[in-house]
This record gives sequence, C-alpha cells and structure tokens, in this order.
Amino acid sequence: KVLLASVCVAYTAVKWTAPGFNPESLRGARVLVTGASTGIGEQMAYHYARFGAQIVITARREKVLQQVAEKCLSLGAQKALYIAADMGNESDPDKVVDFAVEKLGGLDYLVLNHIGPTPFSMWDGDLEHTRWLFKVNFFSYVQMAKRALNALEQSKGSLVAVSSLLGKMPTPFTAPYTSTKFALNGFFGVLQHELSMKKSNVSISICTLGLIDTESAMEKVRGVIDAPAYPAAEAGLNIIITGATRQPELYYPWFTYILTLTKDWFPSVTNYIIQNTYKYVP
Ligand code: NDP
Repeated sequence: KVLLASVCVAYTAVKWTAPGFNPESLRGARVLVTGASTGIGEQMAYHYARFGAQIVITARREKVLQQVAEKCLSLGAQKALYIAADMGNESDPDKVVDFAVEKLGGLDYLVLNHIGPTPFSMWDGDLEHTRWLFKVNFFSYVQMAKRALNALEQSKGSLVAVSSLLGKMPTPFTAPYTSTKFALNGFFGVLQHELSMKKSNVSISICTLGLIDTESAMEKVRGVIDAPAYPAAEAGLNIIITGATRQPELYYPWFTYILTLTKDWFPSVTNYIIQNTYKYVP
C-alpha cells in the first residue's frame, strides 16, 4: 500500500510540474490527424477545430471524412481538409503526408492514430491478417514519420503516436493488435532517444490509453470484459495536450501507469487477475 501510494504521489507530482498548456499555441497550427473519421481521431479533429487549428484528416471513408471536416469548420477550424487513404496500401502514407504539407504549407503536428479492424478472439493462426495489420498499424506509422520528419524539423513540430496499455501489457484475444502496439512503442521509443541525442527540434509523444468508449472498442469487449471505459473526447483532449506540451508520454486514464508498473512487480497476481477478468467459454 505504501509503495502504491508513493507511486501515485510521484505520478501526480510529475503531472503538476509538466509544462502548462496554452490553448492559443494551437491557433493556426498545421495538424494532420489519421483515423479521424470515427472514434478518438474524430474527437481530436473537433478539439483541434475548437482551438482554431488548420487540419487535414484522413481515413478510408471519404463521405464520413467530408462530414467530419464540415463539422470542424463549423466549430472554428481555420482550415479543414480531408483525404481518403488506405494505410494498408504501399503509397498512401506518403501521399497523405505530402497532401498535408502542401495544402497547409508545412506541418506542426502529425498525430498517428488509425488502426485497422481486427478480431477480438483467441489467436487463430491467421498470418495473413497479422501481416496486413502490421502494415496498417505499424509500418504506415513508420513511413509517415519518415516522410514528415523534415517538415516537423523545420516547424519545431511534434509527432504523436497513439498506442495502448496493450502495447505494454499483453492480454487475451488481441495477439495481432497487441503485437503492433508493442512494435510502435519500441520504434518510437528508440526514435525519442535518437532525436534527443541529435538535438532535433522534433518532439515525440507516445500515448498509452486504457479502454476508451469508442463504438469499435465497445462492440468488441461487450460480454467479454466488464471494465470501465473512459470518454473518447477526454482521451482525445489529453492526447492533444500531451503533443502541444511536448511531453514524451501520456497515460490515460492515469491508473494505466500504475498497471504498467505493477504487472512487472507482481506478475503472477496480474496474470491471474487478467485471465479471470476475461469471460471465455471453450
Ligand atoms: P476506431 O476503430 O474508432 O477508429 C479507427 C480509425 O482508423 C477510423 O477513422 C477508421 O476509419 C480508420 N481506419 C481503419 N482502417 C484503416 C485503414 N486501412 N487505413 C486508414 N485508416 C483506417 O478506433 P479508436 O478511436 O477506438 O482508436 C484510436 C486509437 O486509440 C488507436 O490507435 C487505438 O489503438 C488507440 N486505443 C484505443 C482504445 C479504445 O479502447 N478505443 C484503447 C487503447 C488504445 P475508416 O474505417 O473510414 O478507414
């Protein structure tokens, strides 16, 4: 208990001393958000719009993107453009970055958030799906980061990678997804070191999220786990603030940080709890 209390106090202290967020810093900021047709990405687009940013949003469904972009304009975005793209295609990640840099005249924030649909079930040995999911959830992130680095370097910009608690803690029914998130944490964790060693202008933020109440997530966990889900709009705002204040990490909700620590301190207890939290009928 004492240990847990100390961790909570330390975490709160770190949060309080984090550099303050100035909403004005986002007025006119040039932002690219991926996976912005639904869920957390859509909510981030609306927040950036309210802050008066210039936004490019992307996902596969053009009609939905158009509606989100229109709402962004009505909320106060200086610009709201969209480009339909499939991140499973070789050339689409580059195409999207080039579009944003050209239309916005540079880039201040690259927010990588999209994920491909994946089953929530026992690993069934589907290698093809795993390979495809790596393309969408991982390689496209790496490709977009590479393509955008120059523009971000010029603007002293920020790259934000949306990851998951499952990128730090394996849980059942998510083998391909969890693997892509572990890979993201590894890649962008290394990049954080290297950019810092090179004294680069670019900041990288890695966001660890717990269960968020988006339609796609809720559909999956319904009847399988009974855990509280946190609001997508609040998750989105926390991600934006983390990027704007150039913090290396976000844990949302806050206790995901405690979970990443305690899973290593008490592995057998953690595993017991995890396996008994998931309903499984063989
Ligand atoms: P959603 O499933 O709601 O949204 C996914 C987005 O990605 C949609 O805009 C979708 O649009 C787009 N997308 C899907 N496939 C492709 C593709 N092949 N190419 C391009 N875009 C694609 O996800 P969430 O909002 O729930 O999650 C957002 C982020 O948060 C993800 O990185 C996720 O891992 C992370 N996260 C979410 C949690 C949760 O509980 N919700 C928990 C932990 C992390 P379209 O179909 O139009 O292409």
